[in-house]
Amino acid sequence: MKIISLVLPIYNERQNIPKLWEEITTVTKKTKTGYKYEFIFINDGSSDGSEYELEKLYKNNQSKFDIKIINFSRNYGHQIAVTAGQEYANGEIVVIMDTDLQDPPSVILDMLEKYEEGDHDIVYAQRRRYKTNFFKEKSAWIFYRLMKKVANVDIPVDTGDFRLISKRVNDEMKKYNEKAKFLRGISCLTGFKQTGVMFDRSDRYKGKPSYTFSKSLKLAVDGITGFSVTPLKFISIIGFGVSIFSFLFGILYIPITIILNINWSGWVSIMSGIVFLGGLQILMLGIIGEYIGRIYTETLNRPLYTIDKKIGFSKTTKLK
Ligand code: UDP
Ligand code: MG
Repeated sequence: MKIISLVLPIYNERQNIPKLWEEITTVTKKTKTGYKYEFIFINDGSSDGSEYELEKLYKNNQSKFDIKIINFSRNYGHQIAVTAGQEYANGEIVVIMDTDLQDPPSVILDMLEKYEEGDHDIVYAQRRRYKTNFFKEKSAWIFYRLMKKVANVDIPVDTGDFRLISKRVNDEMKKYNEKAKFLRGISCLTGFKQTGVMFDRSDRYKGKPSYTFSKSLKLAVDGITGFSVTPLKFISIIGFGVSIFSFLFGILYIPITIILNINWSGWVSIMSGIVFLGGLQILMLGIIGEYIGRIYTETLNRPLYTIDKKIGFSKTTKLK
């Protein structure tokens, strides 16, 4: 019997849990024999009573299903919740998915089928279509392409964290100790062969997305700064470009003035030059600051998360 561990991060998903469970159990019924599921719910400090909904689910189903619940002491963020789930997963196969039904559980079957072909350790679910708001769709589109350009790892475009990975990928991912996680990038960094299945990302079933613009932006910055130093190189290139420009301007200033008969008087040109350079410098400092901030949080080396309560671990698995 091969175990498939489902890693299910929950943040204020009380309304979605019953429907999610219904769809997941449909998938378990359709899964061919030889597989057994382990469900790891990570309640990431929800404040809407998700905890009780999960406990109810546990009580009603624990006799038939292997359900585990990890309650964080507070909200640590999606990437950390998934990381905890990965640490506790026992499966030969691990599946990471959202719990608001934007990642349709039925895709697990497609990923499993692809995985069984045997050539790949990572099967990611690639979004054929987005169904979020216009701004989120466009900014995600730009981000994935920018990431592809700057990151020194092959991260497929339009993929979130929804993916199936083998145990060895999961074990390798656990060795990446950074605090600012960008899991979809890390799974690619392991270097194992990857492939994808396409799916239509639907709307969140109930409730509001908790990935606000600032959380998404943080993830994007973590992704870029964690996988590339291109922004730092970009600073030198800009600096070099501006120096060349001012040097040429210094030399060519007199002939241009004579030939074109320009009257340079006035403070506008000086001011615009100063403001432009000032803005540029602050922007560049900001980029350096992002990296320094990263060094700072990494050196603090604080624990990634604190667990308040664990349910369902006693019988089958060793406690950490
Ligand atoms: N999530 C989490 N912790 C958070 C925010 C989100 O565990 O701090 C979970 C959430 O329950 C969901 C998934 O991460 O299963 C994706 O979150 P959301 O739907 O808000 O993001 P979006 O789909 O808009 O990217
Ligand atoms: Mg969502």
